[in-house]
Amino acid sequence: MSTATEFQQMLRGVSLRVTAPRIAVLSAVHDHPHADTDSIIRAVRSRLSAVSHQAVYDSLRVLTAAGLLRCIQPSGSVARYETRVGDNHHHLVCRGCGSIADVDCAVGEAPCLTASDERGFAVDEAEVIYWGMCPDCAASHAD
Ligand SMILES: [Zn+2]
Ligand SMILES: [Zn+2]
Repeated sequence: MSTATEFQQMLRGVSLRVTAPRIAVLSAVHDHPHADTDSIIRAVRSRLSAVSHQAVYDSLRVLTAAGLLRCIQPSGSVARYETRVGDNHHHLVCRGCGSIADVDCAVGEAPCLTASDERGFAVDEAEVIYWGMCPDCAASHAD
């Protein structure tokens, strides 16, 4: 459902200049949620062969800073990006194969979990990762 027009509107909405690499990166991440940088570069280059790695890195950084992309980095993994932002959803990560799945926020809004002692911090986010085995890995470990 997200078209180039929508991506342009998203960029304008956060006062970013509309550029071909930024549109291509948004669209690649939209199509490949939780993709790492290398996969995003491959996806972008399949559409825009002239885009440099640096342009993709720059776009990822700018789009993440503007809140159009969310970057997650489960420990042991490289940074991964998604266009699903602002809903405080969490992630299931498989210890076996590293696959990542979205799971809705248990409560619905950040920070979702109240710290037992906030120690004066104004907490606005609790980053939750549920670690375990995905169905495929659990099945292959069953016997
Ligand atoms: Zn797995
Ligand atoms: Zn996600």
